[in-house]
Amino acid sequence: MLAPAQRLEAITVCQTKRFLERFSADVGFRAELARDPIAAARARGLPVDPREIRPLWDPSCAEPPGSANGCGPTAAYRRFHQAKLRRRAEMAHACAPADPRFGAWRERQQNRCRGQFGVAYAAGILHAPACFELTSGCSVGCGFCGLCAPPLRAIAPYDTAGRQLWREALEVIRALCGAAAGHAACYWATDPFDNPDYEQFLADFRAILGRYPQTTTALALRDPERTRALLQATASTGAINRFSVLTLAQLDRIHRTFSAAELATVELVPQMPGSSLLRSASGRARLRGAAEDPPPYLAPLAGGGEELAYPAPPDAPWTPTSIACVSGFLINLPERTVALISPCPASDENPLGYLTLAHGAFATAADLERTLGDMIGSQMPIALGPDDFVRLREDLEVTVTPSGFQLATPFRRVSVDTPRGGAHLRQLAELLRQPRRVSELELLLCYTCATPAEATRRQLDRLFAAGLLAWGRDGAPAAAQP
Ligand code: SF4
Repeated sequence: MLAPAQRLEAITVCQTKRFLERFSADVGFRAELARDPIAAARARGLPVDPREIRPLWDPSCAEPPGSANGCGPTAAYRRFHQAKLRRRAEMAHACAPADPRFGAWRERQQNRCRGQFGVAYAAGILHAPACFELTSGCSVGCGFCGLCAPPLRAIAPYDTAGRQLWREALEVIRALCGAAAGHAACYWATDPFDNPDYEQFLADFRAILGRYPQTTTALALRDPERTRALLQATASTGAINRFSVLTLAQLDRIHRTFSAAELATVELVPQMPGSSLLRSASGRARLRGAAEDPPPYLAPLAGGGEELAYPAPPDAPWTPTSIACVSGFLINLPERTVALISPCPASDENPLGYLTLAHGAFATAADLERTLGDMIGSQMPIALGPDDFVRLREDLEVTVTPSGFQLATPFRRVSVDTPRGGAHLRQLAELLRQPRRVSELELLLCYTCATPAEATRRQLDRLFAAGLLAWGRDGAPAAAQP
């Protein structure tokens, strides 16, 4: 039971949240606010005084110093938001899988992503260890779908056999990932509500993995009572629920159908033209291009780092991004397929914004366990072996310097150098421009630069852990990613 002051703060936060949902979705509202804040809020039925929360929406209005712990609506909303960010950071930490090979591999993917997306953007990628699709395809067909979801064509049944396979698959993931398994999601290029038994699947998920997974749906309005029941069932558990909002008319309906209190913990994700959300330029959104609706974009800064610019300048290129948040296993239940994936900037080669490093199929949970074990064994070395092939990642710009070399992406620059003269490092950088066996590199540097093999190995290990090396095994050319 909340104390009266806490109750009042909760109401204030809900109403402020609703105001900001309108603000980020509705370009017309933003323009009206600038002219006449009170009339703009009243016209949208928002029971807040925009002047009282001005620091939240007007960049020219700074919050007075020392107000962070105050009792006004701005401070209350900031506390709410900070708590959300803290939970998210904890979640990213909790996503580290128990299997040490899997854990080391995930860290390499995180390091690679920091260079490829920029540190700030990459910090928002969860790298969850797994995700399940409970349908094949999606009935919604969003024009911006970052995963290019095909039309709905199959639904995982929740009959006796389907339930058993599902529960056993959850056990397999739990055995591999430990507590991190609870951070898997039950959707990918799918909408959860396309499966009529989604809630039953979730109940099993919670029973076996200890928590409800995140739900993101664009179908919150298809059956509002179903949506409401899901919100109520998960409300006190800390589960994250998100509604994709495709149009302003849909936002109006969502706000009419669900009270501000019902949506207190639901994130609304505004996907309509004019939204201030940083949308992913992957999948169908990438195919459509920036011309239709220039989004905010990330711009590399000259000295490293990045800035978020809004709106994007007319001639700005789309910054390759991704909505993928899994470094691990994508498991499709109706088709009984599994893929090992990890986020990457969307490109012609990887248009959906993720790498697929291995594919497999399974008929039973025992098959699934074997397939995942094989993928971990073949794709996730905890350290380099003498027969492994490595080279520098192809997207890195290599600059040789007097003391070694530098590796750069548009967002990040890493120096590999030594104050004692870097002849061996310069040589290493040259050798790593093409795939080389680890033992070959150790020998070459030993004979050409008198570098002890152990020192070369340590250097390679550091580059590998930092996600800077592409890697391959068994005579294969180095794979595209670490
Ligand atoms: S964005 Fe989501 S709801 Fe829309 S088509 Fe893609 S998977 Fe379906």
